[in-house]
Amino acid sequence: MGQSVILHLEQVSKQFSRQDIPAVQNVSLTLDQGDILGLLGPSGCGKTTLLRMIAGFEQPQSGIITIAEQVVASPDCWLPPEQRDVGMVFQDYALFPHLSVEKNVAFGLQNIKKKSKEDLKQRVSEALGLVGLSGLGNRYPHELSGGQQQRVALARALAPRPALVLLDEPLSNLDVQVRHRLRQELRDIIKAAGTSAIFVTHDQEEALSISDWVAVMRSGCLEQCGTPEEIYQQPASRFVAEFVTQANFIPAQRRGDLWETELGCIAIDGNIIERAFNGNSNNFDQVELMVRQEDFILEPDKDAPVIIRDRQFLGRELHYSLQVPSGRELVARTRAGAALSIGTRVHVSVANDAVQVFPAKSKSTQSNWKPFVRVKR
Ligand code: ADP
Ligand code: MG
Repeated sequence: MGQSVILHLEQVSKQFSRQDIPAVQNVSLTLDQGDILGLLGPSGCGKTTLLRMIAGFEQPQSGIITIAEQVVASPDCWLPPEQRDVGMVFQDYALFPHLSVEKNVAFGLQNIKKKSKEDLKQRVSEALGLVGLSGLGNRYPHELSGGQQQRVALARALAPRPALVLLDEPLSNLDVQVRHRLRQELRDIIKAAGTSAIFVTHDQEEALSISDWVAVMRSGCLEQCGTPEEIYQQPASRFVAEFVTQANFIPAQRRGDLWETELGCIAIDGNIIERAFNGNSNNFDQVELMVRQEDFILEPDKDAPVIIRDRQFLGRELHYSLQVPSGRELVARTRAGAALSIGTRVHVSVANDAVQVFPAKSKSTQSNWKPFVRVKR
């Protein structure tokens, strides 16, 4: 099956009245049929507003939204939600408490007029089968667990076989274990249904594990769009790096071919530097090196300037809080093995290719810095 475009946003913006900056600002992106897009960003960055514009619950001020090759919102056209080929799943399930599971799911089919009663029954049972709830059709929402209720909501959204399912933080109300299990199930169900989906979350791990593509939003803007691996390994901006990986940032100064940091001098591959500065690296003598928590190598060394200030045992991993001479704190994660005790002085090194380079956080370089935003075409 050749991939076709299921959703296209072009420069979509929305500013609510009494808002200083737009909730969503010039967002453009493209999603192919069958793909799952994770929309990731901190609370208040505009995720729900963007989703509601795609669903048709909010009208953009400018921009064009196209779903399955049909323009649904543009300066001179507007289709209401029921005329868009989308299903929606909310954080709070939004089931009807007085309707059985079956009737809740059938509610999603009420716009499909020409179907016979048998057809409808068939569709409902198919949708319940898809989400693993066959046999529970006569129950009422209060007789189900939170995870089961969310699956009913998903069945209701999938029953009309929409081109696109929009899920707004669907797992946020569930406790951690259910959330982790349902993550993978959700992905499997969406893939089995053969539909495309946008999955909104503020949880990095959730976005990376569920999605084929991840779009990171910040203050209404799309900061980066890429595969989960690209977002994690090549964050396009310091914001993405901090938000997605909770990475460490270490100031560094150019010293000939090396970069001097308070951990010592580090050699960095020239290609990494050139990529970071779009070929203008000569303009930058001050940078910040991004090192992910898992990329530090710690070796006990009684003469080293770095001290282990704190240690957390997390089962599979150890988290170390390191104090460097400037007083700054760095966080390192290692596999739980030979644990180093608090107070130990350690020599800290970094695998060479694990370093990313960002302009120093001074105002002058920040304004020159344009994040590289990748939009899938
Ligand atoms: P997220 O889902 O990422 O948490 P939202 O899309 O809900 O973010 O909100 C983005 C911004 O728009 C926030 O500043 C929020 O206060 C504002 N906002 C959302 N809905 C409305 C509304 N109906 N009226 C006014 N402001 C709103
Ligand atoms: Mg929201």
